[in-house]
Amino acid sequence: MDQLNNYADSRLLRGCIYCAGPADTRDHVPSKCLLERPYPPNLPVVGCCESCNQGFSKDEQYFVCLIESVLCGSTDPEKIGRPSVAKIMKNSPALRERIEASRTEVDGQIAFAPESERVSNVMLKLARGHAAFELSLPCRTEPDHFWCGPLSLLPEESREAFDSVHFQQMLGEIGSRNIQRLFVTQITLHSENDEQQQNVGILINDWIDVQEDLYRYQAIDDVGVLIIRIVIAEYFACEVAWEV
Ligand SMILES: [Zn+2]
Repeated sequence: MDQLNNYADSRLLRGCIYCAGPADTRDHVPSKCLLERPYPPNLPVVGCCESCNQGFSKDEQYFVCLIESVLCGSTDPEKIGRPSVAKIMKNSPALRERIEASRTEVDGQIAFAPESERVSNVMLKLARGHAAFELSLPCRTEPDHFWCGPLSLLPEESREAFDSVHFQQMLGEIGSRNIQRLFVTQITLHSENDEQQQNVGILINDWIDVQEDLYRYQAIDDVGVLIIRIVIAEYFACEVAWEV
């Protein structure tokens, strides 16, 4: 990933970005367990407290194991695709059993019933991390909108809107990494009879690929709303928004 410095007002991000307690450690966003080695350089980090840092790790382990079990249709470590997740499953029989217990098979179709609270906990934490790192805005309150689920469940139209680049209308926090990432492109507008032409600059806010096919996200701060979109393993998606 590109290494970008944050030039926004640093007072905005004082303390743990999750609970506002003292930030005595740093947290990778996304957490390394969502990625595979070799990790991309310059992974985003945010300030957080030890207890938040520890508090999320069990849910994150559960989440990565669940996603891999769903994708591979099994909790058997031998059948799990991601090596780091196969290792967790091998070393944590209790976790494997718990996921196995949520497995159902109807007419040859394998499904796993997720522990929704744990999944939401992980996704919201990731969204808060991206908002802090990219937009320089702490989002400690409950979001105004939250959705997560398989990408394939989005109706075609929503899917297109979800995956597309965002055309920025207003600039967010000056100096934030998000502003530095926006790029300008020019389109030419033609009048109906083609006699007049006008060049218009538009600002594009694109998705950020952290690791191909494993993790991408988009952070938007525009006209009174912050939106974070995340796609994990090109399978599980999430959209979180805060009105500001
Ligand atoms: Zn904290």
